[in-house]
Amino acid sequence: MDNKNNFPYHFKSSACKTCGGKCCRGFGGYVWVSLEELEAMAITRRMELSLFARQYLRQVQGRLSLQEFVINGEHFCCFFDRIDRHCTIYQSRPEQCRTFPFWDKFKEDPRELFAECPGVSLE
Ligand code: SF4
Repeated sequence: MDNKNNFPYHFKSSACKTCGGKCCRGFGGYVWVSLEELEAMAITRRMELSLFARQYLRQVQGRLSLQEFVINGEHFCCFFDRIDRHCTIYQSRPEQCRTFPFWDKFKEDPRELFAECPGVSLE
């Protein structure tokens, strides 16, 4: 059980095995990445950086975010394996993914989080 100071909930990472990747798919959003993270992901994929960036990144308001794809109205991160339901670059996933569900936006109002993530609880 993980807990972070000042967050009004706990997180049980074992729930990730069976939740089907709810934090990697849904209504769409942005997975922000830094240049360092980009390099680490390209290494994981054994791809040249420029090719990796062209294939998997998009620019949004001057920032870099991972691409997503949409199937039947559902948005998926480009690195989410829809068959096996897991992240295909897990060891080099960006900080935003590593810190989930302890994001500042959930600290004040975790209702959206409770609806999305079965690993989160008050106990
Ligand atoms: S990089 Fe991996 S953990 Fe992050 S949203 Fe994409 S599939 Fe999920």
